[in-house]
Amino acid sequence: MNAITLPQDRLGRPLHDLRLSVIDACNFRCGYCMPADRVPEDYGTDASQRLSFDEIETLVRAFVRLGTRKLRLTGGEPLLRKRLPELVGRLAAIPDLEDIALTTNGMLLAQQAQALHEAGLRRITVSLDALDPRVFAEMSGRRGQVGDVLAGIDAAMAAGFSRLKINAVVQRGVNEDQVIPLVERFRGTGHVVRFIEFMDVGSSNDWRMDRMVPSSVLRDAIGARWPLHPLQAEYRGEVAERYGFDDGKGEVGFVSSVSTPFCGDCHRARVSADGRLFTCLFASEGTDLRAAIADGETALAAHVGGLWERRGDRYSELRGSAEVRDRRRVEMYLIGG
Ligand code: SAM
Ligand code: SF4
Ligand code: SF4
Repeated sequence: MNAITLPQDRLGRPLHDLRLSVIDACNFRCGYCMPADRVPEDYGTDASQRLSFDEIETLVRAFVRLGTRKLRLTGGEPLLRKRLPELVGRLAAIPDLEDIALTTNGMLLAQQAQALHEAGLRRITVSLDALDPRVFAEMSGRRGQVGDVLAGIDAAMAAGFSRLKINAVVQRGVNEDQVIPLVERFRGTGHVVRFIEFMDVGSSNDWRMDRMVPSSVLRDAIGARWPLHPLQAEYRGEVAERYGFDDGKGEVGFVSSVSTPFCGDCHRARVSADGRLFTCLFASEGTDLRAAIADGETALAAHVGGLWERRGDRYSELRGSAEVRDRRRVEMYLIGG
């Protein structure tokens, strides 16, 4: 029985989603996340600093007691974490956890899709910012090849994943010209492309407002080619706005956290690979949970519930204001988006 009251934060938001980073290392160096000139080649805490599978299971069970029903595994690049399918299998067995998803850059997906599906994973999001091989290679910091990611997507389908989400971050002057080709490629395949506004996460990606392409601009450009109509959110707090193609060939999504903040419905916590809880994507500090994890599921749930009840984050609504302007922000690759 769940003896713990489900917590709400100071703005009345429940703790419904957990985004868990399983590793802080990455095989890419995307300029908007982990620029190669700022993040060393061998970056990544050593394995002993990462939560073990036992610790992760305790953590997720505690979050489930607090009302969490959706879990997303992320990184860094989560497919670099050794024995990830074994972890997925353990998490998939947790009662009341309704949904486990994974966000990956797709480079290693072809090798791992089958094992992940067999372990119980059912949802994958692949980040793919460009189809043009040169633009793609450049955006991955010259680490990735688009053919490998497309092969990963095909392998996921062959392994039994039915509908993937394809996330593209659009930066002005970098990959705007990839938007229409991405839609064209995946329209009618069952996969859903979602365009994400370039965000001011962390402090190393040289973010500027004029490098962000608002979703409204993309929606108009896509709609001019393939007429669109708005769709209902699939669940409360869904971050992407959904649009269906009038000709019935699927849908496209937009994540507009800069132009249209959605803090009011943000019920997501993030935990870094070394066990720190962040209550906002733009938080300065995390709270180390390792000691509480060692105390077990019940004590951990009480601890995290108390932290959640003190949460008042709403950075995107305050963006640019004196209250948050000079605040240090955690790097995206530590908490996985
Ligand atoms: N490495 C995996 C990947 O790229 O899918 C998972 C971690 S990555 C940090 C998660 C997501 O964050 C990716 O879809 C990535 O495009 C997105 N992301 C990273 N930096 C971003 C930024 N500055 N603005 C918007 N999205 C960003
Ligand atoms: Fe790596 Fe993902 Fe960040 Fe790109 S967005 S550098 S793939 S963690
Ligand atoms: Fe949630 Fe923070 Fe993003 Fe607002 S800015 S939606 S509180 S993560």
